[in-house]
Amino acid sequence: MGQITLKGVRKAFGDVEVIPPLDLEINDGEFVVFVGPSGCGKSTLLRLIAGLEDVSGGEIEINGQPSAELPPAKRGLAMVFQSYALYPHMSVRKNIAFPLKMAKLDQAAAKEKVDNAARILNLTDYLDRRPGQLSGGQRQRVAIGRAIVREPAAFLFDEPLSNLDAALRVNMRLEISELHQKLKTTMVYVTHDQVEAMTMADKIVVLQAGRIEQVGSPLELYRTPRNKFVAGFIGSPK
Ligand code: ADP
Ligand code: MG
Repeated sequence: MGQITLKGVRKAFGDVEVIPPLDLEINDGEFVVFVGPSGCGKSTLLRLIAGLEDVSGGEIEINGQPSAELPPAKRGLAMVFQSYALYPHMSVRKNIAFPLKMAKLDQAAAKEKVDNAARILNLTDYLDRRPGQLSGGQRQRVAIGRAIVREPAAFLFDEPLSNLDAALRVNMRLEISELHQKLKTTMVYVTHDQVEAMTMADKIVVLQAGRIEQVGSPLELYRTPRNKFVAGFIGSPK
């Protein structure tokens, strides 16, 4: 189960309110994209959900449980960053297995999970390599593999493709969509790229200056943008 509910969630850094109180429902199995210009609060919102930042007010519920009672490690959420954050001295296998080692899972069970993630991500032939011997797309897949083995309630992606060149971005976009179809796990995906949002999302959340301008399916936003900002950002003719 990966249901995430934000109730009046706000965030201030010092005196600066970057997220005014905001409500949002993310349903189990949904692919939700937060989209908006740089600095609009996408990463902050994702970090609040992950528990990497504390809320300044309001509440986040994960599968009905208030986040105040859930330290980050207990939320069952796996974050994938654009910078990969791989260990350069470890093999691909060890990088993917790392969260399982931390959880002290026994070796046979860990191996099975790693092999399974590698199969899903077409990394089976690369398990003995080090990150430095991989392409950018393969490295990003390793980072996703490390999230998959944790069997999270939801994946949280923060601009995972922005370091890749244009052609590879298209491939990885399709691969992440395919992964969502296979796993049917909730995915929350942050991007400033409208095309990514329109092609990947079940539900798009358009943000501007920490505020939700509109929530809807790609088609709803395209057909009935609520205001000029959404229309302009989504590229709607209206
Ligand atoms: P986005 O990911 O959409 O580019 P961010 O969530 O990173 O935006 O940032 C939203 C706003 O919050 C920006 O104005 C940024 O400068 C500010 N901000 C983010 N993190 C911090 C922090 N740790 N301290 C102070 N201000 C921050
Ligand atoms: Mg960001």
